[in-house]
Amino acid sequence: MLIVQKFGGTSVANVERIKAVAERVVNTAKQGNKVVVVVSAMAGETDKLINLAHQVSPNPSEREMDLLLSSGERVTTALTAMAIDALGYKSIALTGWQAGIITDTVHTKAKIEKITADRIVNALNNGYIVVIAGFQGITGKEGEITTLGRGGSDLSAVAIASAINSDLCEIYTDVEGVFTTDPNIVPEAKKLEKISYEEMLEMASLGAKVLQTRSVEFAMKYNVPVVVRSSFSDKPGTLVTKEDKDMEKVVVSGITYDKNQAKITLIGLPDRPGIAAKLFTDIANANIVVDMIVQNVSSDGKLADISFTVPKSDLNKALKIAKDIATELGAQNVIYRDDISKISIVGVGMRTHSGVAAKMFETLAKHGINIMTISTSEIKVSCIIEAKYTELAVRVLHDAFNLADKPTV
Ligand code: ASP
Ligand code: MG
Repeated sequence: MLIVQKFGGTSVANVERIKAVAERVVNTAKQGNKVVVVVSAMAGETDKLINLAHQVSPNPSEREMDLLLSSGERVTTALTAMAIDALGYKSIALTGWQAGIITDTVHTKAKIEKITADRIVNALNNGYIVVIAGFQGITGKEGEITTLGRGGSDLSAVAIASAINSDLCEIYTDVEGVFTTDPNIVPEAKKLEKISYEEMLEMASLGAKVLQTRSVEFAMKYNVPVVVRSSFSDKPGTLVTKEDKDMEKVVVSGITYDKNQAKITLIGLPDRPGIAAKLFTDIANANIVVDMIVQNVSSDGKLADISFTVPKSDLNKALKIAKDIATELGAQNVIYRDDISKISIVGVGMRTHSGVAAKMFETLAKHGINIMTISTSEIKVSCIIEAKYTELAVRVLHDAFNLADKPTV
């Protein structure tokens, strides 16, 4: 088999961990597999570099930022290749550009445009274990170093797996897989044996931190089988794959929470065409990603309230835009809350089972938890609640949907 193994920051946090990674890689190769390794920077290293940049400049240039941040992965790539070599296996370390990862020109959040994988493939064919720096690439024309956005080495791994037609992409991290919910809140949370791309995508974007959202999108689009597992144990992880019949039998696969949201409400806006367009165009132009949007029209049909949620880090920016628009359009008031959290239940089985949302609302009500906003998709229901009820909500929902009774793996 041809396998891509990606190791996150905690898996390469120090020389002991890097040697353990080398051993795992070599064992995989011993079993007759060709292996490509993708590594993150050592845990905390990227944050440290960002911090250094801000110490020398209030507004560091993004081009130089990319040059700086890409150095974290160069370190672990070289060390990992050396450690593999020390075990008697041929290994070569490649930066993003040496590996042919071509991106667009958007510094600090570049998109991969293509991967010219000849060098990777040649090295594999010559018997090398290829170690590639995650999170980085190079622009096609100018030859500038770019990075792919935080957590981007997951994306590097999945994209490389797709480019070289790998049989499997293993993402090694410090948890044993994808759980029904955060085991820190619910100790009985169960590890899922497999989960569909779509569910994983919802869970990743709803706050589950095991995989970067864009990497899941990529895996889904190109059908790359991904396994999330721990580099600290030998237990099998969770397979992220195409939906199958079995998955539909389970109504809810997981519960996520996100405390990183804030909610803004414009009260008493005129109810006429173009109002929402104006508001959300201005918000979008400020590069703020809006999550939920709810509009209510008063019974006489003349005024409307619009609520929406944004990441907490964008609250001040969004609030200013909302206030400007409120003044311009003659709205009555703008209010906000940042003591909220979003609780979501996710499962492809929702497509074929009724009453799932009702059960969620009933469960929250029974525990005195008020719901401020609701949004749904085909496979998820999300509620905004007061942040102080987050843990309670997660626990009672995990219980209500019997997630602790899932077969263990
Ligand atoms: N080192 C980068 C980060 O911390 C990329 C990654 O670890 O995936 O965001
Ligand atoms: Mg990561």
